[in-house]
Amino acid sequence: MRALFLLPLVVLLGCDAAATGSTLADCATDIGTDAHSFLQTYFLCVDASASGDGDALSSDGLPPHESPYWGEGHAMYVAFDDRGGTHFQNPNTIGTQNIAFTIPSDPTPQAGLTITDALVDTTMQTSDFEYRGGPVGLALNGVAMFAAMAAPGDDIYDEAFTFDLYEGHPAGEQYHYHWHSQGPLEVLEEKGLTASVTPGEGDVEVYGMMCDGTVVLGCTELDGAAPDTSDFDAQNGHLHDLDDGTTLHFVDRYHTHVCADLGLFELFPEIAYYEPTGC
Ligand SMILES: [Zn+2]
Ligand SMILES: [Zn+2]
Repeated sequence: MRALFLLPLVVLLGCDAAATGSTLADCATDIGTDAHSFLQTYFLCVDASASGDGDALSSDGLPPHESPYWGEGHAMYVAFDDRGGTHFQNPNTIGTQNIAFTIPSDPTPQAGLTITDALVDTTMQTSDFEYRGGPVGLALNGVAMFAAMAAPGDDIYDEAFTFDLYEGHPAGEQYHYHWHSQGPLEVLEEKGLTASVTPGEGDVEVYGMMCDGTVVLGCTELDGAAPDTSDFDAQNGHLHDLDDGTTLHFVDRYHTHVCADLGLFELFPEIAYYEPTGC
């Protein structure tokens, strides 16, 4: 009797311990009506609510899409595509994360900061202005965003050879993106905001939000217009109002444009324009 009782319990615990994952259509989203309009409009698969002078934003970091990094046997596992032999899978698999930021509503620019090519060197620990390693932002689908940096001696562009078809990969169990991905664009499609999820072809392209309050867009502004690149800094960043035609979400807000087609910088930002108090 005892063995019969224990067996289902062990099976149940085994299931609980594994990263389960879900799709964009059935992931858990809990965004309060008190949360910032930008979070309410553009995000799925995250928790968000007003908190003090900002918003608490959190996620389990599990990608709501297929990946070879789920591991064989997982419902959303697909074989790694080596793209003709140029790409290879890293040995890590996706695990549940506990990502939580408090994003300030009215962030303060970092004093004395000018974002130049010398500062944006895609290498960690070369300035006091850069983001830390690990998750420093959340994509629209709850996946972690990592800054545009590799460890000293490594090249961030070498990392790209282990990206899956969603341009993501895990560090340890932390699945994340560094640049353009169709994952966040699928949220915009789900919400009826774009017909294409191919980066560079979206009607509107939004990737996510960094923990300091920096917004990350793609090849368009929030209203779908082409960005004016004339005042871009070294990481494709500039300041202006972010209005999607329905809602003025941000006034004079720093944001970057991740867009290979612009031929400039194509990664998420390396430098935190605002004081990273909630990171
Ligand atoms: Zn990485
Ligand atoms: Zn812009």
